[in-house]
Amino acid sequence: MYPSRFQYEAPRSLEEAIGLLHDGGDYVKVLAGGQSLVPLMKLRFASPELVVDINNVPGLDYHRAEPDGSLRIGALCRHADLERSGLLKTTQPTMAAAAPLIADPIVRNRGTLVGSLCHADPQGDWAAVVLALGGSVVAHGPGGSRSIALADFVTGPFQNVLEQDEIAVAAVIPAARGARSGGYLKLERRVGDFATVGVAVALETSGGTVTRAGIALTGVGGSTIAATAAAQALTGQPLSPETIAQAANLAAEAAQPRTDHRGSADYKRHMVRTFVQRILGRPEPAASDTAGERAA
Ligand SMILES: Cc1cc2nc3c(=O)[nH]c(=O)nc-3n(C[C@H](O)[C@H](O)[C@H](O)COP(=O)(O)OP(=O)(O)OC[C@H]3O[C@@H](n4cnc5c(N)ncnc54)[C@H](O)[C@@H]3O)c2cc1C
Repeated sequence: MYPSRFQYEAPRSLEEAIGLLHDGGDYVKVLAGGQSLVPLMKLRFASPELVVDINNVPGLDYHRAEPDGSLRIGALCRHADLERSGLLKTTQPTMAAAAPLIADPIVRNRGTLVGSLCHADPQGDWAAVVLALGGSVVAHGPGGSRSIALADFVTGPFQNVLEQDEIAVAAVIPAARGARSGGYLKLERRVGDFATVGVAVALETSGGTVTRAGIALTGVGGSTIAATAAAQALTGQPLSPETIAQAANLAAEAAQPRTDHRGSADYKRHMVRTFVQRILGRPEPAASDTAGERAA
């Protein structure tokens, strides 16, 4: 199908883009990688009057470590940039594990992490990863910038808190206070598919004790789920078979899966438990070794 008729603008600055969104009418959309928006428009699930393509806006195509130790990912940083990133491989095991599991190479070449967060698909992989890491989104609008914790950014399936004239300019992952470990595991029906179940685990440890834990789930609820009780069960504890089993059980309890053509609710819950156990039960990874893999 073809999209409904729409006006297209490709501004060359952030201010121009925000002005277009501000004056653009009732239904305007930002276009980043287009890997979710364009299919929705072609199916006519989305029929914006105006599409503001931000691909000509300079200074958004980056990911970098900031002086305070945080990681900042610009709105035009593609999934493929993150998949190939040496910085992620050495400092961000959960992100490095997830990047190659997003869709297929064609989608990864265009789609962006920030676009994925904005799209807020319950089956989007990046939201679980960024949630587990305690990350946030930086939005820019006519009134300036604001930072929104991802836990507050997504309000429901395909919904976020951005105003119509705000653009998400970056995602930020806070600096780690301990040694980082973790991973992302994804069950999919075939390579390149959306997650039937995805589990992101992000740990920080110091002297054998977990100082911070984040666990988040993809595809097993109406939106990405933060398994906070599971993460709390690990915090302040050494990783042991008992704490791992407890966290895995609590994560499975936090899941809200539904039985569908991909599997029964029980099966999906079982996979959440198994993935948490698998990621946490691995020996401490070397800097370049991450726990990302597809599970068939
Ligand atoms: C075949 C296929 C398979 C896929 N498989 C997966 C998968 O396995 N896992 C997965 O996580 N995703 C998957 N995706 C989705 C893909 O990752 C998209 O790239 C991603 O969801 C959206 O990023 P984008 O840059 O393409 O955003 P776009 O499509 O450009 O935009 C998506 C939405 O976010 C808004 N938006 C985008 N950027 C901004 C911004 N900077 N500020 C404000 N609003 C913004 C848009 O207005 C739109 O509403 C798949 C897509 C396809 C086509």
